[in-house]
Amino acid sequence: MKIGVFGGTFNPPHLGHLAAARAAIDALELDKLLIIPAAIPPHKELPEGTPAPEHRLNMAAKLADALLLPDKVEVSTIELDRTGKSYTSHTLAQLKETYPGAELWLLMGTDMFFTLHQWHDPSSILAQAGICAFGRSEQDNKASFAGQAEYLKETFPEAKIVTTQIPDLVDISSTRLRELLEQGGGAEYLHPSVYGYILMNGLYGTHADLKHLDIPELRACSYSMVMQKRVRHIRGTEEEAVRLARRWGADEEYARRAGILHDCTKYLELEEQLELCEKYGVELDELEHRAVKLLHSKTGACIARHVFGEPDEVFDAIFWHTTAKENMTTLEKILYVADYMEPNRDFDGVERLRELAYRNLDSALLLGVETTIQEMKDRNLPVHSSTLRAQAWLRKHGATTEG
Ligand code: ATP
Repeated sequence: MKIGVFGGTFNPPHLGHLAAARAAIDALELDKLLIIPAAIPPHKELPEGTPAPEHRLNMAAKLADALLLPDKVEVSTIELDRTGKSYTSHTLAQLKETYPGAELWLLMGTDMFFTLHQWHDPSSILAQAGICAFGRSEQDNKASFAGQAEYLKETFPEAKIVTTQIPDLVDISSTRLRELLEQGGGAEYLHPSVYGYILMNGLYGTHADLKHLDIPELRACSYSMVMQKRVRHIRGTEEEAVRLARRWGADEEYARRAGILHDCTKYLELEEQLELCEKYGVELDELEHRAVKLLHSKTGACIARHVFGEPDEVFDAIFWHTTAKENMTTLEKILYVADYMEPNRDFDGVERLRELAYRNLDSALLLGVETTIQEMKDRNLPVHSSTLRAQAWLRKHGATTEG
């Protein structure tokens, strides 16, 4: 097994790190990549105002998730769990024990590569792992690595060195990024989920007013709360909701914001969902108490209102987007239907739903509701009473899934 070891302070992790990780996975054909935030880096001081280790770990986890390779990429707490300075030679020795027989490759950018011989116990490092060095800017090319690679090979005969170019290089450092964040910039160098995390936790001198975020900031916050594989669906729902709002004369801005936030609590466990319901005074029936899938719409609505200051219209649309109910507003219908048929959805009958959604919104809603009822019956699961009430109300008011 080939394992890449990508250490750093990740203070914060940025798009340069993401591009480097991607390039190394491809160049070395890694089976696994470990992203390892340092506790106390031996070669540099952590600057004043550095967020707690827990925040650096959470941001590194978002970087890992952003690679969308959950079976391959992991964040490791091996250095944060160890006390004292995070010497790479110790980390590699520990990894050798955890993964006996694995081939370890230490990934590093130019700055680290040129000082490698001055690190603690370089001979042990080079005996335990191959080195994969990559340029951090356009000026760093293979030729500029050659001298140092030669020197290391001569000094440490066991050294295995590979130098690689990052195809989509991003010339940024965390140091520069921290300055930009402090001045209200920097978003373009961050994965949205990391940027959202920084805003939501007020890190690096950002003082975002969460109740007045612009659309890119709201997206970033929403994406920071979910697994990155869900973002395509969230983006699709946002776009579909805006198109439907235009078609049916609803508020496009509200539709967009509801789409962006509708699944923001999707990955919370039942306990956390129940705590939020308690905190925000959401009353639950017996079924909702045990069906976690029914809760994210309610807790998502509460986060939209209480954290992001969204108005009642957005709250209500998110609140009812899973179960639906009788007599819904146009915006509530739009979010329900958009969530069901956004461009990434693919199930038998989705084309019919898409066509109906732009011709007769109530009939599209009924089709969605009845598809859910059928699915629940097929899977022997209880149907929520609100969904049955939605069906009855729509049928009574002339909606039909025929014709
Ligand atoms: P700082 O500015 O705080 O020193 P940094 O941007 O160098 O931080 P680190 O967390 O120290 O980030 O870097 C971890 C690893 O990622 C190092 O090996 C570093 O060389 C590499 N690296 C950092 N930035 C880039 C980049 N833009 N492109 C490629 N590799 C990078």
